[in-house]
Amino acid sequence: MNNLIIGSGPGAAGVALRLSREADQQITVIDIGGRLEPDRQHTLDRLAGLSHSDWSQADVDAISAQPVAENAGELPQKRSYGSDYPFQDRGQLAGVSATPGSNDSVVSGAYGGFSNVWGAQVMPFTKSTFDRWPISFNDMTPHYAAALLEIPFAAEEDDLVRLFPLLVPAQQMPELSPRAVDVLRRYGRHRASLSARGVVVGRSRLAFKARDCVRCGLCMTGCPYSLIYSSAQTFDRLRASGRIRYLDGLMAHRIGQDQDGAWVTARHLGTDQDHSFRADRVFIATGAMGTTRLVLGSLESPPEEVELGESRQYMVPFVSVRSVQDPRDRADFTLNQFNMLVDFDGEGYDTAHIHCYPYNPAFMLGLPVALSRPAARPLTREVLRRITVGLGYLPSWASPRIRLTHQRAVDAPLPQIRISPASDDSPPMYGKVMRRLLRAGPKLDLWPVITHSSLSGAGKSYHFGGSFAHAAGPATAVSTDRQGRLAAWDRIHLVDGSVFPSVPSTTFTLTVMANAHRIADEVLGVGN
Ligand SMILES: Cc1cc2nc3c(=O)[nH]c(=O)nc-3n(C[C@H](O)[C@H](O)[C@H](O)COP(=O)(O)OP(=O)(O)OC[C@H]3O[C@@H](n4cnc5c(N)ncnc54)[C@H](O)[C@@H]3O)c2cc1C
Ligand code: SF4
Repeated sequence: MNNLIIGSGPGAAGVALRLSREADQQITVIDIGGRLEPDRQHTLDRLAGLSHSDWSQADVDAISAQPVAENAGELPQKRSYGSDYPFQDRGQLAGVSATPGSNDSVVSGAYGGFSNVWGAQVMPFTKSTFDRWPISFNDMTPHYAAALLEIPFAAEEDDLVRLFPLLVPAQQMPELSPRAVDVLRRYGRHRASLSARGVVVGRSRLAFKARDCVRCGLCMTGCPYSLIYSSAQTFDRLRASGRIRYLDGLMAHRIGQDQDGAWVTARHLGTDQDHSFRADRVFIATGAMGTTRLVLGSLESPPEEVELGESRQYMVPFVSVRSVQDPRDRADFTLNQFNMLVDFDGEGYDTAHIHCYPYNPAFMLGLPVALSRPAARPLTREVLRRITVGLGYLPSWASPRIRLTHQRAVDAPLPQIRISPASDDSPPMYGKVMRRLLRAGPKLDLWPVITHSSLSGAGKSYHFGGSFAHAAGPATAVSTDRQGRLAAWDRIHLVDGSVFPSVPSTTFTLTVMANAHRIADEVLGVGN
C-alpha cells in the first residue's frame, strides 16, 4: 500500500509510527516543514555539544530571548530558541483572519508543527470523556501506550492516576521547586477534605527526558539538549532509518479522490509550481484548523460555516503567604511542575485543569513596571518568593465555540477563513473554578488572585477541534466515521483534532497522536 501523510506534527507522527511498523507499507510525507534559522541552529548545536557549565552566556542569550505580549493582559506568543519559526507564515496563514482578541496564528508551517513550542504536558482523556465518543477508552488504550512509548515520559503515581492512569512505565521527575513541594505536601495533609470538594493535586506529566535534565531553567525558551519531545524527533528517526520519504517546502491545497485512488495537489513554496501526488490512502494531519481549511477548500459543496469546540484557556496567578527561597537563586526546570484538577462531577467529565508554574524568567516581564526599578529589588524578591502562575483550561462543552467562515479565493490556493468566537459570553464554569480555587487556597497556601486572572481569546488555547467530528455509524457530509473519513472520500482520513467529538480540559496532544495511531491501525486492519 502506498500512503501519503500531510504534515509532520504529532498527529502525522502517530500515523507514521503505526504504518512504519508494517514492512509492506510505503510512506511519503509532504510538509511545509519550516525550520529554525541556520544561525540559531548553529548556536544550538554548539550548546548541545558542551557540558552546560561550559556554555557561553552570549550563546545562551542568543537562543533564550523571552517573548513579549503584543497587548497588555495577553499571554505572549512563545518562542523556540529565540525564534517564532513555528508560527511564521510560509503561505499557510495567507487569507487567515480573526476578529480582535481571537487568534489568527492557528496553523503551523514548521517541521514538527506546534510541538516545537508546546508545554509538553501529556495526559490521556478520561474514560468518562470517551463514554461520550464513538470510540471507547479501551479502544484507545494500546494507542496511548504506543504514543507514550515513543515519547520520553516523566510522571509519577499520585492521586491523578485514579482518572488518568499512567499506562506505561515512566521516568521519575527531577527534584521539584520548593513551592511545588510545599503545595504537594499540604495537599497530602488535606487530601480528604480537598478531594471531597473535587480538588485533586498531583505532579505534572511531561514529555521530556527527565533523567538527563541538568536543571538549567531554559525549558520555556527551548531545551539546549532537546530533552523536550517534538514530533520532529520521530520524523528524524524514521527518515534516518529510510522508512519514510519526506518532502518539505510543499503546501497541500486541494485533495480529492477518483477511481484510481486519492490525490493531493501541493504548491512548492520555492517555485510556486503545483505538484500532484497519488496514493492508496491519504492521511491529513495539518492541525485542526489547517485540516478544516483544506477540506473546506476541496469539498464540492462545503458547509457555509463550521464551528469548532475549544478548551478555553485562562491564566490565574496565585500568591502564597509563606515564602520560599527566591527561585532565581536555584537551578530548576521551568516546565509545569504540578497540576490542579477541579472535578465537578466526581467522574472526570466536568473538569477544569490548571498547570502550575512556580517560576520562569518570563514572570519578570509580567511584573508591574515599578518592580523593575533597582530600588524595588527587595520587594521583587519577596513577590517572586510567593507567586505561582496557573495556566488553566475549561472543557469545550463549557467554553464558547469557535466559528469559522470561509470563502474560496480566485487568486490564492487555499480559501480565506475568518475565526471568531461563536458567542461572547464568559463561561459560567470559569467563575465556578475560581470559587473552588479560593476555597482550596487556605489549605494549599495558594490563593488565586482573581482580579488578575484572565480568559484568553478564541483559538489561543491551541486545544481546539471537532469541525468534522467522529460520529457513530457511517460518515456524513460533515461528520467522520471512526477512521476519520467524510462521506465524500473513503480513502482520505482526517487524523488530527478536527475529528475530536469534544475537547476536555486535560491536555490535548497525546490524544491527537494516539487517535491518529488508532486510525492508522484500523485502516491497516481493513486495507491489508
Ligand atoms: C505555545 C503552545 C503550547 C502548547 N502546549 C501544549 C501542552 O503542554 N500539551 C498539549 O497537549 N498541547 C499543547 N499545545 C498544543 C499542541 O502543540 C498541538 O495540539 C499539536 O502540536 C497539534 O498537533 P497536529 O499534528 O495536529 O498539528 P501541528 O502541530 O499544528 O502540525 C501541523 C503540521 O502540518 C504542516 N502543515 C500545515 N499546513 C500544511 C499544508 N497545507 N500542507 C502541508 N503541510 C502543512 C505543518 O508544517 C506541520 O508539520 C501547545 C501549543 C502551543 C502553540
Ligand atoms: S531544565 Fe529544561 S532546558 Fe534545562 S536541561 Fe532540563 S529540560 Fe532542558
